[in-house]
Amino acid sequence: MRLASLRGRGVVLPGGEGGPLLAHDVSRLSEGRIDPDPMAMYGAVDEIRSLLAAADPEAARPVTVEELDAPVPRPSAVVAIGLNYAEHAHESGFEAPEGLPPVFTKWPSSITGAHGDVVLPDGSVDWEVEVVAVLGRTLHRAQEHEVAAALAGITVGQDLSERERQLRGPAPQFGLAKSFPGFSPIGPWVVTLDDAPDLEDLSLGCAVDGEVVQDGTTAHLLHSVVSAIAQLSEVLSFQPGDLVFTGTPDGVGMARTPPRFLADGQVLTTWVNGVGRMEHRLVAGR
Ligand code: ZN
Repeated sequence: MRLASLRGRGVVLPGGEGGPLLAHDVSRLSEGRIDPDPMAMYGAVDEIRSLLAAADPEAARPVTVEELDAPVPRPSAVVAIGLNYAEHAHESGFEAPEGLPPVFTKWPSSITGAHGDVVLPDGSVDWEVEVVAVLGRTLHRAQEHEVAAALAGITVGQDLSERERQLRGPAPQFGLAKSFPGFSPIGPWVVTLDDAPDLEDLSLGCAVDGEVVQDGTTAHLLHSVVSAIAQLSEVLSFQPGDLVFTGTPDGVGMARTPPRFLADGQVLTTWVNGVGRMEHRLVAGR
């Protein structure tokens, strides 16, 4: 099933990517036990699955993918993993890191949905397609086998990055340079793991005006989704609805010769096969 947000309310759609776009309002389905706030869905995944199985199909309403908002609008934390694919580490001028993966935070105010405009600030804005994991339980000091059971599901993400601010100064400014409004698009829905493809064999990519610029697979992750979250949980205490951006494969604009960045009027398409697809138009800021 897919968890999504429609005009500020949590909705559930049957199946994975490609399934019919028929949405049930989760709060109505639960007769008010689950709050309408989409954030309330991520700690209630098992209950929602039972409710959907018993739901009257006639009670669903057809929706279009463009109507859906960011499925996880206000997580308590957005953790992002850097250099989690060897080829991307190399193109960025780093050795593939050993041990705990390097991490940074993206501010929740940078979240937006899977469609619409993203305003480009001044500077050099780059693309980074990522698989994004969504927590469904509290998690601290977890073993790998506990992580998969604690995930609500996965979604498609872009870790948009303004490289000039990121790389200026005595130490990299990952968090700020990746947290402009609209710099964390996610969606269009969260696919639960029972309806998602194998986490260790997801193909992901993005295209600028139809030209594919990234084309990767999670089979090449240095730290798998589950292993990375288990390691982060040695320190962090995760809450339901928290997001983990799991790293980007090679093909970013900064590493190209000459470097390439996003420009006013371009369309950025981002996908994880079997999970979903996003489309954004870049517009120049003032
Ligand atoms: Zn990233």
